[in-house]
Amino acid sequence: MMKANGTTSVKSIKKSPSTLPELRETEKPSSPDLVLARMLDLAAQITRQEVQPGEIRFWSETFQNERPQLLEWAFREYLKTAQFFPKPGDIDKLLKDIKLELAQGDSFKSCGKCTPEGWVLVGGGVKRCECHIKWAAARKA
Ligand SMILES: [Zn+2]
Repeated sequence: MMKANGTTSVKSIKKSPSTLPELRETEKPSSPDLVLARMLDLAAQITRQEVQPGEIRFWSETFQNERPQLLEWAFREYLKTAQFFPKPGDIDKLLKDIKLELAQGDSFKSCGKCTPEGWVLVGGGVKRCECHIKWAAARKA
């Protein structure tokens, strides 16, 4: 009579030390770390400079409690005019600015180049002014 004899090969459980300490299991898709990873990569492409491996950890620690949407906004804002790879302080300053704006209330304030409602005339129509887009994005964050 044949019987199962326990020869099933059990693969030894490999210990694979995580090489990415900044990526933890508990993270959600929109975590600050994922936004950072994406934005640092974008920054590297735009400024044609490289992210240093040790640097990523520092970014991650610095901004771990930030709202991902605000973080992404700050990076995009910085990169619009960036000539150099951002430093955490550059992004931090933008975050402080936007938080100050947010703290001042929800009401939209025109930048002066658009209507009080945030429209600019283009051709025969209107489009949302940059300042309104920024305001709206910050509110959603
Ligand atoms: Zn405007």
